[in-house]
Amino acid sequence: NKQQEKNLGLMVIDVCSFREINESYGYEFGDALLHDIGRQLHLLENSKTSVYHLASDKFSLMISTSKDQQTLEKLIDVSKKRVEEIFTSTFFVNDKQVQIKVCVGICCLNDNNLEAPNLLRFADVALEKAKTEGPGTYIVFDQKMSDVANAQEQLVGEIETAFEENQFELYYQPKFTTASQTLTGFEALIRWNHPDKGVLSPFYFLDIVEKMNRLDDLGNWVFESVCKQLAELPNEQIRIAINVAPVQLKTPNFTQHLLEIANQYAVLPQRIELELLEEALLTSIDETRAILKKLRDVGFSIAIDDFGCGSTSLQYLYKLPATTLKIDRSFIIRICENNKAQEIAHSIVRMGRKLNMKVVAEGIETKEQFEVIRQWNCDEAQGYLFGKPMPVADMKKLILA
Ligand code: C2E
Ligand code: CA
Ligand code: CA
Ligand code: CA
Repeated sequence: NKQQEKNLGLMVIDVCSFREINESYGYEFGDALLHDIGRQLHLLENSKTSVYHLASDKFSLMISTSKDQQTLEKLIDVSKKRVEEIFTSTFFVNDKQVQIKVCVGICCLNDNNLEAPNLLRFADVALEKAKTEGPGTYIVFDQKMSDVANAQEQLVGEIETAFEENQFELYYQPKFTTASQTLTGFEALIRWNHPDKGVLSPFYFLDIVEKMNRLDDLGNWVFESVCKQLAELPNEQIRIAINVAPVQLKTPNFTQHLLEIANQYAVLPQRIELELLEEALLTSIDETRAILKKLRDVGFSIAIDDFGCGSTSLQYLYKLPATTLKIDRSFIIRICENNKAQEIAHSIVRMGRKLNMKVVAEGIETKEQFEVIRQWNCDEAQGYLFGKPMPVADMKKLILA
């Protein structure tokens, strides 16, 4: 996850008795609580936070600030207290009082120490250590913790196995029109069914897969799986969006290659949207435009993903034959709290409309957020308010519902 801020902190929170409470409080329980922290922190010191559900009983809380290291430490301290308060309050499951404990691993990053992509892994090493010391332990990562290199090496081996043993799975998150809340399609999101750690989010492994030079292999697997699914879906109007990594776009004959796979499953490219990050577009405008044009010519749609985060200039957007703009979740989180964020998001919507593009807001979590983007005539919405990413069986049920 790219962040421009200088100082980053990451807390990985493992909820020791989550499975037990999960059934009565629902999956949203942890998210809801952690978002509460996120909102509190936004109001402090110009910080940004984001919460991810990493696995069934694991969350990460990313905190970033453009201010100094001390500010970051203060923010982390506030978050620790809130996490403590939230999770140590009393919960009842079937009239029985349940005590919840968390273990937390923390890693901080400033200008000149660690590499950002490793933040999660470092925090995870600290978390594993905290777990060995028992529930209720918070541990901050430090460089002396020996097993970082090992952990990474082990992960490479495990990813090899994941490819061989087919441990990857696609989850699908629904998208709806804002006007009538009609289901239009899904975004395919990759998960790793890790034999010990459970369902893992792409933040755990995508950067390692990239370092292993295997993003292409993964991308091919994703594309073929989506085509297979599309061919089986009970409704031919449903479209699926696929995330395409920058390296994939650069492979020779990319369009031809995708088209062959789609043909093999008798799936029309019109049912597939390719989501590209802004950073994928930055190398050379002419080259990018040529590749996108080829993809468009054979029928694929093109979405610019996480729009607003990168440094794409307006000119780029005017010149590219993209069909869709996706507003990044980091703007949506703040549209109800912060005028500046609201203004940026609103101008993205207006700009997209002017360019005749479809505008999709991602990460819609609350009715208030939905109300704002609906008033702006944003075309589609995607987010936990409407549905989380779900396994294929649930996707099919939703289509038939
Ligand atoms: P993305 O493309 O921006 O995908 C949206 C992410 O936001 C997903 O995280 C989704 O689960 C999450 N999300 C959606 N709605 C909400 C919400 O209301 N609240 C919150 N808190 N989160 C929400 P996920 O699935 O963990 O994916 C993370 C990133 O990994 C994706 O970000 C995408 O960049 C990448 N990714 C996922 N699948 C693939 C893939 O098959 N290929 C490639 N190259 N990248 C992928
Ligand atoms: Ca995406
Ligand atoms: Ca996105
Ligand atoms: Ca995003």
